[in-house]
Amino acid sequence: MNQEIILIKNGELALKGLNRSTFEVALVKNLRRAIAPFGKFDIQKSQSTVFIFPKEDSIDLDEVCNRVSKVFGLAAFSRALMVEKDMDAIKSATVDYFKEALQNAKTFKVESKRADKTFSKKSPEISAEVGEHLLQNFPHLTVDVHNPDVLVYVEIRDFGAYIHSQQLPGAGGMPVGTGGKCAILISGGIDSPVAAYMMAKRGIKLTAIHFASPPYTSERAEQKVATLIQKVSEYAGRIEMLVVPFTHIQEEIRQNCPEDLFTLIMRRFMMRVSCKLAKERDLGALITGESVGQVASQTIPAITCTEAVCDLPVFRPLIGMNKEEIIRISRKIDTFKTSIEPYEDCCTVFTPKHPRTRPKVEQLEKAEEALPVEELVKEAVEGTKLHHFF
Ligand code: ATP
Ligand code: MG
Repeated sequence: MNQEIILIKNGELALKGLNRSTFEVALVKNLRRAIAPFGKFDIQKSQSTVFIFPKEDSIDLDEVCNRVSKVFGLAAFSRALMVEKDMDAIKSATVDYFKEALQNAKTFKVESKRADKTFSKKSPEISAEVGEHLLQNFPHLTVDVHNPDVLVYVEIRDFGAYIHSQQLPGAGGMPVGTGGKCAILISGGIDSPVAAYMMAKRGIKLTAIHFASPPYTSERAEQKVATLIQKVSEYAGRIEMLVVPFTHIQEEIRQNCPEDLFTLIMRRFMMRVSCKLAKERDLGALITGESVGQVASQTIPAITCTEAVCDLPVFRPLIGMNKEEIIRISRKIDTFKTSIEPYEDCCTVFTPKHPRTRPKVEQLEKAEEALPVEELVKEAVEGTKLHHFF
């Protein structure tokens, strides 16, 4: 019976009333997919806890825990030893399971919880008995109820008794898929992968859209974006990547429009094309990595101009964050090192020397009269390719 498993406490799920079962189903599905590469598992739900039972001895639970810590919708989880619901079995398993930790500790504390009310002993009795047994086996220890070196937790539940130490923090948020589907406009920069992560954390399933301008941008630049998506997908689940051919549009703008409006007109094309691609795929909104004031195209008047061509909601989860805060998250999700690799992005290819920071929509509309807007958008949408890099 003694087997190591992973116990998961649902996060915000507990708060969601009638939607709860939908959330739980999504969480279990996402967990199953996330840990599948590590071996065979049995996953069960009971009393707002999800149990992961490894089915093969060769499974490395450290690796599985690391993976589980990135799945959204989990408040906390722990590695636990499952034992028979019998006091003697619990006591001797506790000695073995915590041997190393207790040998190296000075103080400990036992906490118990009896979810199975048919079990003969109440929580305080369980704690007292297990505590006493541990003191007999490790006489150098003393009990410290406030700040113990080692916390021994005993839970009596329907499938068995579980012993574990303190819980590890989960990734929080909502299970991916429960918040609908959106398009993330992703460049090779620092910001958009962080924006993707933040929206996935709210349960949004993502499709990535990337604008590439070969030969001005290289194959390697596209690979870099694929690597970023791969890293985000450890949290966000599978992300499809759409690559839009953007060269023709950029060349047309450069040849036919005033230089100081280049970036804004380009960004309006990105929004138009993305909006079309999103609608074709039933994606409910666009997400960008914009943050107010960061660059010329991210002032309020500039954002007003780019948003004017798009009739889907545009979410900008980083809008009020400063660069240090964004970088801190990008390091946490391990996209930072990739983001700072020096490959040309389509945005940097033709950057105007003096970009407008206070543009007006009418100005841009006027400048765009020189372009076959609809045709260019259609051509880009039709030339878009679905890439599976992973
Ligand atoms: P990032 O760090 O995400 O590149 P940024 O601060 O460099 O952002 P911009 O280059 O102005 O800002 O881009 C603003 C947003 O537009 C990006 O966060 C991203 O959502 C989108 N974007 C920019 N370039 C591309 C691209 N080549 N493909 C798809 N989306 C892009
Ligand atoms: Mg950028």
